[in-house]
Amino acid sequence: MQGNQAQINDELYTDEERWAELRTRVAQAASRSQRSADDITVIAVSKTVSATRVRQAYLSGWQNFGENRVQELVGKQDELVELPGATWHLIGQLQSNKVKDVLGRVSYIHSLDRLSLAIAIQERAENMSIARMKCFIEMNLAGETSKAGLAPNQLPDFLRQVSLLPRLEIVGLMTIPPLVSNPEESRALFRRLAEMRDQIREMNLPNVTMNHLSMGMSADFEIAIEEGADFIRVGTAIFGRRTI
Ligand SMILES: *Cc1c(COP(=O)(O)O)cnc(C)c1O
Repeated sequence: MQGNQAQINDELYTDEERWAELRTRVAQAASRSQRSADDITVIAVSKTVSATRVRQAYLSGWQNFGENRVQELVGKQDELVELPGATWHLIGQLQSNKVKDVLGRVSYIHSLDRLSLAIAIQERAENMSIARMKCFIEMNLAGETSKAGLAPNQLPDFLRQVSLLPRLEIVGLMTIPPLVSNPEESRALFRRLAEMRDQIREMNLPNVTMNHLSMGMSADFEIAIEEGADFIRVGTAIFGRRTI
């Protein structure tokens, strides 16, 4: 595992080599969980990466791009309007006053973590005649104060409230596990998120479809896929180490 990781990030590799290896590893992890590579959406996390490199990645077949800052998302998208079929994801924290800049630009928001934000999305979607905004609820499973996300005991109430907002579709759960030296240490949290997703799905709440799990990054995407992730968010392993 550690060896693979070093290899995939090795700057001596060309992008095409790294991307081919990444695709292979995603497909292998998918088959270990009785799925195919087509079942896994790889979001190329393009924060700090130039529009030119995003265009190269798109031309090589990557179609999903993730940004964590609204301003950077807007600037890059405006440079890249000519990428038909590209899908954008907001994966970072979202302030309610920035909702207006994001709606209509992204297909998924991965960081829904409070009711005031959900209401802001509902109101703005109404104004803009956006029928449904797909959102993941961000979960903070390890109780890290430095991180956004709901604690598990906040989730039932939150779900009851957001299920009353018809312009939102709650498509799944998202999490960012604590930084660990061995990615195996995150497996239990990934498993827990999958169990929570399954339980919520059984509740059959309106506007809550819960078909997806957004979990897994460069260091741990194989383990996340093995535990059921179908949206993985991969930056370093696609674009190389970020310098800023
Ligand atoms: C940066 C980022 C990622 C990607 O991280 P890598 O370790 O570079 O793959 C994934 N998710 C979120 C929310 C991020 O901010």
